Amino acid sequence: MRKTAHVRYNARMPTLILKPGREKSLLRRHPWIFSGAVGQITGSPAPGATVEVRDAQGAWLARAAWSPASQIRARVWTFDEQEPVDADFFRRRIQAALARRSNLGLAAVTDALRLFHAESDGLPGLIVDRYGEVLVLQSLTAGSEFWLETLADLLLEATGLPTIYERSDADVRELEGLAARTGLLRGSNFESRITISEYTLKFLVNVATGHKTGFYLDQRANRHRVGALARGRDVLNCFCYTGGFSLHAAAGGAKSVLSVDTSGEALALGQENAALNGIDADGLTWSDADVFTALRKFRDQGRAWDLIVLDPPKFAPTAAQAEKAARGYKDINRLAFKLLRPGGILATFSCSGGIDAALFQKIVASAALDAEVEAQMVEVLGQGADHPVALHFPEGAYLKGLLCVKG
Ligand code: SAH
Repeated sequence: MRKTAHVRYNARMPTLILKPGREKSLLRRHPWIFSGAVGQITGSPAPGATVEVRDAQGAWLARAAWSPASQIRARVWTFDEQEPVDADFFRRRIQAALARRSNLGLAAVTDALRLFHAESDGLPGLIVDRYGEVLVLQSLTAGSEFWLETLADLLLEATGLPTIYERSDADVRELEGLAARTGLLRGSNFESRITISEYTLKFLVNVATGHKTGFYLDQRANRHRVGALARGRDVLNCFCYTGGFSLHAAAGGAKSVLSVDTSGEALALGQENAALNGIDADGLTWSDADVFTALRKFRDQGRAWDLIVLDPPKFAPTAAQAEKAARGYKDINRLAFKLLRPGGILATFSCSGGIDAALFQKIVASAALDAEVEAQMVEVLGQGADHPVALHFPEGAYLKGLLCVKG
């Protein structure tokens, strides 16, 4: 019975046939098929349409979204031959992701979290973040684009929420041949400024104009950790955005917090966030400056801190930019080590997909060597639990962090 359905289904599907020997990563359940692995494509699938994937001998491997403009030519939806790619399939994936989130204990801590994390939750290209009662969606691939309206309806159905704002304006869409698109996807009466809670703090997030979907949700636990280490310390928060680490540090009892960023809009929101939490403005200073320049100036002025946070933007989106990015990371980490007082803590991060955890550790180690300081790594940090990493998809682990103590 199932077999009959499967054969009928198969017959009208375009098929991607791999070059000989190129099925290995798929057998390990890695979901990407690069252009160099594609032998032949039968039929003429539209961008984002579903194709059957077979090895060079004709054995069935997967069902994937066709992405003709991208170097990642197809992304797997399912490795189960009996599973059609239809609304029910997407409903199951969305419900499973929500069920996983509900077991993480995050509801006690925040009302803003990632509900769907693309490949790692089983749907390449789909990012969904929840900010209070509003969902913010990013569609990043031809496949998620093809199913966008279905996905939007299913998300409302699964969450019971009324509003989806779309932030499909990430640079990676260009690699898929997709133009940027933002705006209200579902609902009405939408206000782009939303107040969220994170542990004991509140943050204003602008989901229409903020970075990514509005806030760096992936750093939640690390902000909290830094807050717990801040008591009595002078804190320097580099690349502060809207003051996430700064306010956690202030709430944790920091003596002073200096926050540096080049975005005037982010700094203004940071100050609003301080006021929103009733945090005494005296101990907080905000500086609109380039971190690379500011750190040099601080060094020349002989300034020093007890806790420094470095959370720069993505210097290396892919491995191709890793070398130049490594120089950037080393530079700021070297300067930060110099600016730390003995016993001071460095909380240093990289969200670059092109720099893996081992390389990041090497960069930080060589920065300490160049700064002529002894330092120990006391904790290894990563992205929050609502940003899971599928074990067969190591690329999902993009956020790396180290807590180091200067000797
Ligand atoms: N730690 C923040 C997120 C940082 S995102 C949080 O927890 O919310 C990176 C930030 O670096 C952005 O706000 C961006 O405006 C800023 N930025 C990028 N390049 C910069 C530079 N050269 N100097 C200072 N800030 C920079």
